[in-house]
Amino acid sequence: FNAWKVTPRYTQLGSLFYQPHQPEVFPGPSQLVALSTDAARLIDLDPCTLDEKALLDWMSGRLRLEGSQPIAMKYAGHQFGQFNPALGDGRGLLMVELTNQLGQPWEVHLKGAGQTTYSRFGDGRAVLRSSIREFLGSEALHHLGIPTTRALAVATTGESVRREIYEPGATLLRLTPSHLRFGHFEHAYIQQDLSGLHQLADYALQHYFPEQLEAEAPYAQLFAEVVARTARLGALWQAYGFCHGVLNTDNMSLLGETLDYGPFAFLDHYQPQITFNHSDPQGRYAFDRQPSILHWNLVRLAQAFSPLVDTELLNQQLALFMPQLEQAYYQCLAQRLGVDAQADRRLIEDFLALCRSDEIDWTDFLRRLAEGDTAQALSLTSQSAAWRMWLVEWQQAVQAQYPDAEARQAALCQYNPCIVPRTHLLQAAIEAAELGDFSQVRRLHALLRRPFNSEGVQKTDRQAPPKGWPVALSCSS
Ligand code: AMP
Ligand code: MG
Ligand code: MG
Repeated sequence: FNAWKVTPRYTQLGSLFYQPHQPEVFPGPSQLVALSTDAARLIDLDPCTLDEKALLDWMSGRLRLEGSQPIAMKYAGHQFGQFNPALGDGRGLLMVELTNQLGQPWEVHLKGAGQTTYSRFGDGRAVLRSSIREFLGSEALHHLGIPTTRALAVATTGESVRREIYEPGATLLRLTPSHLRFGHFEHAYIQQDLSGLHQLADYALQHYFPEQLEAEAPYAQLFAEVVARTARLGALWQAYGFCHGVLNTDNMSLLGETLDYGPFAFLDHYQPQITFNHSDPQGRYAFDRQPSILHWNLVRLAQAFSPLVDTELLNQQLALFMPQLEQAYYQCLAQRLGVDAQADRRLIEDFLALCRSDEIDWTDFLRRLAEGDTAQALSLTSQSAAWRMWLVEWQQAVQAQYPDAEARQAALCQYNPCIVPRTHLLQAAIEAAELGDFSQVRRLHALLRRPFNSEGVQKTDRQAPPKGWPVALSCSS
């Protein structure tokens, strides 16, 4: 870590936005559960020469980096529709802000680092289960092409942590250019600190939205860009079957990345109304409500931007969100099916309707189609006349786009993964890890790093578990 170029950015904002904190010291013994070599390279760490002991010591609070002052970020947010001013990093710390050799900004955040000013009733800990889920989930999304924070490593702390039951404790190192959340702006707004709000927006523009800084009305352009990025993010979630689970505004990244993995899940069977988070009985964060919840969250951000940008302008930009999301969504589905987003729109709609009525394993179905194995794909459905007719129509449409079978297969396989981080796969790897065997976590990680490549992917990795397999996920993490 000695070669790191430490660059204070966020920490140049005033005390309105953070508190200095040192991580808790976990005496151990701690073990490295998983390491993302791809993520390591982003911050100029050479995985071959990486000092694992130093990494573990750093992740357990036993080693301090010279020249960096860890902080807990302060933000607010709407949780399940209710405003909460008291949020902030309650169990994570921004450990260091870097600029890598390519000149890119990176923040290294340690999740599970102990209590802070913002812990409220929490213990400041993270458990191994949720740390593995975030590690595998975020690295998988990245390699699927969905914007997300990255994960560098998971380490056990040697502690037992009380949740519904006692579970092994862990820490996770998370990477992103910026942890700015909608909730940061809500915080400055509710504090009625106009100069703080300006400072925050200027900071965001300068470091993360430099093109918008050139615009005539930079704050308006900043908001427009956040709307566009959020629309793209939502489109990809819906087109790949990802359900975030807790879309509170404090879990919304200003950069348009997937942030704060809790009770997330990929749809196993196409049941769009499904809710995975068992603390969400109303289904506020159900899969098919995500687009409208993202819009609702953007309205909260717009309110926080209202001292900076004319309300009418903000409303105009909000109105663009749903059309942008829909366009990107159909574009992505069209890519996955190898058809034309406009001309074949009805074919796409019919496909979704059939998926819904049969509740099929659409991830596996789409991959089989991509591989040219229509018979296998059909076997995943009810094999109704409607499906057969749809397949005939699809074949005509896809052949119009890709007359050559080999080229078609190659193209479609690039958009249709043979593996996604399904809940039951994560769960099996977690249960082994809790007994000290990290090999399944590492195997899954290796497969999820190249999700479009079927090499080494077993039938049981590809397929949904039987319907009714327990899917409710605990929010506790
Ligand atoms: P989340 O629902 O995970 O996004 O967390 C919501 C808020 O609770 C954030 O301010 C977190 O920092 C805080 N929080 C979550 N879990 C804990 C914990 N175990 N200890 C302290 N704070 C926590
Ligand atoms: Mg959160
Ligand atoms: Mg969280």
